[in-house]
Amino acid sequence: MKTPGVTVIGAGLAGLTAAYRLKQRGLAVKVLEANSEPGGRMAQRQEHGMTYNTGARLCYSFYSNLLELVSELGLEDAIVRHGNMKIMCREPDKQYVIPLKPGLGLLVHSELPWNEKLALLRLLPDLIKARIKINPGWMMTAADFDEPSLAEYLRQKVGPVFLKKFVEPVFRCTRSWNPDQVSPALFISTAAQMDPGSYTFGFQEGMGQLTAELAKQLDIEYQAHVNDVRRIANGKCLVRYKRDGVEKEIESDIVILAVEGARVTNLLSEPEQTEEEFFQSVKYNPLGVVHAKVESKQPSGVTFFSRDCSPDISIVEIGQQNGFYKLYCQLTPELSKKLKDDGNTSDIYSVIKESLLALCPKLKINEQSIVNQWIENKIPYFYPGYIKNVTKFQDYQDDSRRRIYYCGDYLSQALLEGACQSGNHVADNIARHWLNET
Ligand SMILES: Cc1cc2nc3c(=O)[nH]c(=O)nc-3n(C[C@H](O)[C@H](O)[C@H](O)COP(=O)(O)OP(=O)(O)OC[C@H]3O[C@@H](n4cnc5c(N)ncnc54)[C@H](O)[C@@H]3O)c2cc1C
Repeated sequence: MKTPGVTVIGAGLAGLTAAYRLKQRGLAVKVLEANSEPGGRMAQRQEHGMTYNTGARLCYSFYSNLLELVSELGLEDAIVRHGNMKIMCREPDKQYVIPLKPGLGLLVHSELPWNEKLALLRLLPDLIKARIKINPGWMMTAADFDEPSLAEYLRQKVGPVFLKKFVEPVFRCTRSWNPDQVSPALFISTAAQMDPGSYTFGFQEGMGQLTAELAKQLDIEYQAHVNDVRRIANGKCLVRYKRDGVEKEIESDIVILAVEGARVTNLLSEPEQTEEEFFQSVKYNPLGVVHAKVESKQPSGVTFFSRDCSPDISIVEIGQQNGFYKLYCQLTPELSKKLKDDGNTSDIYSVIKESLLALCPKLKINEQSIVNQWIENKIPYFYPGYIKNVTKFQDYQDDSRRRIYYCGDYLSQALLEGACQSGNHVADNIARHWLNET
């Protein structure tokens, strides 16, 4: 048989990784991307002279598959290690420093009662087990932590204060998840990797440097909005898409759908039953963010707002960029969901302006520079029981040769390393199924 042709839909980290790995194996790979640049949720944009991320802000030192790509692409020197970030958490009547890494800081923290400090020890056996057994970029290895919810798990193991003051704000602010909506898998698997030597990093040219470098190696058609993927009678797949108002189509031996999992149902015609059932179970959270230039000199820093401090705003960050101060203001999961339900996702600033000024009365915003950023699918929920669904679906993908494969963070782990491992995994499957690679 001649070498099969592959069409990858979506140039996020998962799709780019899969395409790159298959090209390395000698396959003819074409990538179709709806945006005019690569990277999906791992890129940056410029507006009103400000730079902001489309999604991810940092990588962790335990991102083994991502670091492998970094090294293959010769980007090691572009890595920028972050220093320890001081984050304040504000409650209605006080504020305190919140550690992002679990560690000794918690044992001496004045906000954690002594009985819960002692109870932290009860996490140790699970953390040790996770360190040994769990691949932090592949949640199928964390099936023992698929249930109950993270909130229930921590209430039982440690206590309500640790949950409310130290875990809930971090999960709400960094993941836009509430601890009662997700399983403990991500918490346990990442906490287990955070030893004193671990660190976070970005890239000299911004978070998009890795995806931009991957994209340079590949044949990508941008502004290609795929609207239909189907298996056809000649044993191939047909991909229909629109570019510059013109309808186009490609026939391909293999298609990899590397779009956000929440979009698959709208693209796939005549799904098999396993596909239909699984994709109904995939859920992402939305997120609204406001970026703006700040007119007066402001102290730089990051503040997380507790749930009872603000129903609208979860993070206010002031940073410096090219000689001006920049505001990053992130909405709460509840307000983001409400805006999505109301279809009110364009003028986010008007919705939060009053709350923002109530929280930060000294802030003077340059209203000509407002950027309203709406992210329809921030990250997938690994809700209690979801790992069971993903495992079943991966077994179906792994089992035998298919014409349509899937990759993305929702099939592995809800972060960059998950997207990367998922791209590698799908390329390995295709090599086994189509090239008889063992
Ligand atoms: C605000 C935010 C903060 C985050 N912070 C972090 C962090 O600090 N660290 C971390 O590790 N992770 C973080 N993440 C998660 C991380 O960004 C994602 O897990 C990862 O980038 C997902 O990659 P992906 O390839 O699976 O999906 P995506 O990057 O979403 O790629 C999907 C691609 O498909 C394209 N596409 C969609 N529909 C179509 C269509 N019809 N036709 C053609 N193309 C289409 C999209 O344009 C996109 O380029 C964050 C995410 C967000 C949103």
